[in-house]
Amino acid sequence: MPEAAPSLFDTIVNLCKRRGFVFPSAEIYGGFRSTYDYGPLGVHLLRNVKNEWWRSMVQLRDDVVGLDAAILGPPAIWEASGHLANFTDPLVDCRNCKERHRLDKLEDPDTCPSCGKTGTLTEARQFNLMFKTHAGPVEGAGAEVYLRPETAQGMFVNFKNVLETSRKKPPFGIAQVGKSFRNEITPGNFVFRTREFEQMEMEFFVPPADATKWYEYWCQERMDWYISLGMPEDKLRLRPHEADELSHYSSGTSDVEFLFPWGWDELEGIANRGEYDLVQHAKHSGEKLEFFDQAANERYVPHVIEPAAGATRTAMAFLMAAYDEEEVNDEKRVVLRLHPRLAPFKVAVLPLSKKEELTPTAREVLRLLQPHWQTDYDETQAIGRRYRRQDEIGTPLCVTVDFDTLDDRAVTVRERDSMEQVRVPIDEVVDTVRAKLGF
Ligand code: ATP
Repeated sequence: MPEAAPSLFDTIVNLCKRRGFVFPSAEIYGGFRSTYDYGPLGVHLLRNVKNEWWRSMVQLRDDVVGLDAAILGPPAIWEASGHLANFTDPLVDCRNCKERHRLDKLEDPDTCPSCGKTGTLTEARQFNLMFKTHAGPVEGAGAEVYLRPETAQGMFVNFKNVLETSRKKPPFGIAQVGKSFRNEITPGNFVFRTREFEQMEMEFFVPPADATKWYEYWCQERMDWYISLGMPEDKLRLRPHEADELSHYSSGTSDVEFLFPWGWDELEGIANRGEYDLVQHAKHSGEKLEFFDQAANERYVPHVIEPAAGATRTAMAFLMAAYDEEEVNDEKRVVLRLHPRLAPFKVAVLPLSKKEELTPTAREVLRLLQPHWQTDYDETQAIGRRYRRQDEIGTPLCVTVDFDTLDDRAVTVRERDSMEQVRVPIDEVVDTVRAKLGF
């Protein structure tokens, strides 16, 4: 019997390990299922996803400012935000196989998905997802701190600081990218759900009467961002939450969902949070968290629209969307059709062979490109195999230095998608690469 083709999921997990995108963390100690390390290629992909988010949310706007708040926080923050009381998932244990599950993620709430037995699950108990630790040399009450389970609270507790220093007024936003931690009951699906992950969140503060308008605006804006970076429209959808899914403070939430190999699942949530967060922090801290509109001579608590995305999850979705296989000269060619802005390397310099005469010129070309783009340099193995490797890691352009280069000072530029090649003088290689990449 022919072997079944591996699923896209297995193919991506394998590619990530083999090429150096993502490694299971602590692998030499047997691994640690709920966290992952980003390797030499993954670190670029993840950084590029975060940079593109920052570029569209902060750099290209004049109504959003950035922030980088602390990961550790005192219980007071989480008391006010409601996380201490409510940031829980319903946990059930299987009396038969002892596995633990999240009740709200089970297809059949009476059947254990691990052993298949019915009627073996315990009553659900609420399990708080925050990681608790202690600060300073003395343990115990008073020293307790929490690792943030979302970056959002950093924006709310700094609302006043930012308002006073940034010369912004509603409508304006505060954006942050960084690590968050959740003691997930069932981490899984590779980097989709981990206990340590990265988020890209923005809190947009608006006059209360304009909240619905801005909520709709951000839903559209966020969908457009994924599409602008090459996410196929048929793999992306915006799903408004049903009334019974909404958090108690939200008057509207929509999820941006991607068609993962296991079905539609969340990349980002866009929520209309009303005045909930600022009111809670004002109540608990005693600080006024309001805006005084001088023109209208009125004081109000801004409402908040929050687009909250996962960077690590989104990087994996872009990888899955970009993966392609095709037949070229009776051979399988694997191509990651990543948008050039997301590709780990924008360009690779490949001397035709490892012969010494080629090295100085190849290195000269490398030095011309490096100040502009992340550039790879690879001189071992046959050129065909090196092209295939660059295709498989998504490098949009390769520049080949051959023996003719030594006479005519021209190089070959090859495109990943079309495999077309053009010959250009070394003096024009930077302009050619810029024109082809578009930046
Ligand atoms: P879920 O229902 O999947 O647990 P959530 O709705 O609680 O997620 P939010 O609190 O809205 O998630 O977080 C915003 C984004 O952060 C999510 O859309 C997701 O991309 C990312 N995220 C949340 N939890 C995790 C996790 N454990 N691992 C990786 N990314 C995560």
